[in-house]
Amino acid sequence: MRTKIRSGSGLDFRRVSRCRVCGTKDLAKVIDLKSTPLANSFLNTPSEKESWFPLEVLYCNGCALLQLSHVVNPNLMFKEYPYRSSSSASMPQHFRELAQLISSEFMASSKQLVVEIGSNDGTLLAALKERGLQVLGIDPAANLARIANERGVETLPQFFDSDMADQIRERRGKAGVIIANNVLAHVDDLHDFMQGATSLLENDGILSVEVPYVGDLNQNVEYDTIYHEHLSYFSVHPISRLFSNFGLRLESVTRLDVHGGSIRVTGRKSRKKDSRIPFMEFEKRCGLNKVETYESLSGRIEYQKEYLKHTLGNLKSKGSMIVGYGAPAKGNTLLNVCEIGPETLDYVIDTTPEKIGKFTPGMHIPIYETERFRKDQPRYCLMLAWNYEKEIVLKERDYTGQFIVPIPSPKVLSQNNRS
Ligand SMILES: [Zn+2]
Repeated sequence: MRTKIRSGSGLDFRRVSRCRVCGTKDLAKVIDLKSTPLANSFLNTPSEKESWFPLEVLYCNGCALLQLSHVVNPNLMFKEYPYRSSSSASMPQHFRELAQLISSEFMASSKQLVVEIGSNDGTLLAALKERGLQVLGIDPAANLARIANERGVETLPQFFDSDMADQIRERRGKAGVIIANNVLAHVDDLHDFMQGATSLLENDGILSVEVPYVGDLNQNVEYDTIYHEHLSYFSVHPISRLFSNFGLRLESVTRLDVHGGSIRVTGRKSRKKDSRIPFMEFEKRCGLNKVETYESLSGRIEYQKEYLKHTLGNLKSKGSMIVGYGAPAKGNTLLNVCEIGPETLDYVIDTTPEKIGKFTPGMHIPIYETERFRKDQPRYCLMLAWNYEKEIVLKERDYTGQFIVPIPSPKVLSQNNRS
């Protein structure tokens, strides 16, 4: 019996001994990023106490799931969450497209209920509600659930589990569509989650999940997407195994550009068997189901880290001012893993009001408003939110210095290739 960290538990973390999808103990440590603090635990002062946790990745020889070796108590991570779906210009666009897809292809009838697990500030559900659909959001971050409720999207500020699914079913009936975007990677007890989701789903209902894709993590060496909130790193293979354990058959797999490369996987209860997914063959060809692939990734991560540190060290030794653009969770992983602190970056800028005036976890770099960067025009700017590269370059077209993009391989953008 594994130790389960539930809401309210006093434990800070547990060690993983069995795969959360297939249950095997045959787990091999493939990546070791040492210890880091929680990537979203911004500090009010640099002297504030903070906890560091090991950041290691295990490969499951049973189902090919990559997963962290230590699971931090979710109460330490998700009660107040600084990331907002609506804070980037491209995400609401992504949600509008998804809203269109849900209403035109997923729904059998406009009277069906759409439940979104991890609904954040309600951006997607608001778009669905505008189309006249019945919606219900669930998000454990009290600050985000409040924002969603204020904009008229009913949102329960709780963690989703099978008990909660029972309560929703009794109160609102079953759901025709359940959406879980960027949620599955956060869930420790995937079996209880799937039990809840499938019991809440109508017989011809559809479950649609979006997860960062391990194929992109591997190909683009996106080691900064590894942090304690992301317990699992999925390819299609372990998802199909998980779905089939709960009577869901794969209906579609779609590649998405968001978050540095993601996949949307849908499963339907009423299907008799998985539809043919060419992706599974692609994954085999890429070696995503082999431990050696991730052992090799570990070596490439080490190389990229050293290369970035060397590049920044060189620029700094010439007296150049360098700042960081964006303070996303992934940026904090990168800074901590590469040990890039205030000796290298004068400050970091961000647009999220909750982060401004605080300090980055671990490296204690001050976070300022974007205006400061525009006024200072630093010689170099490390793009920590590199997944928004095009958006940032466009937004900062008057910037006279040079951006450094750290992923997939550190590169300094010249003024020419920015236009
Ligand atoms: Zn497994």
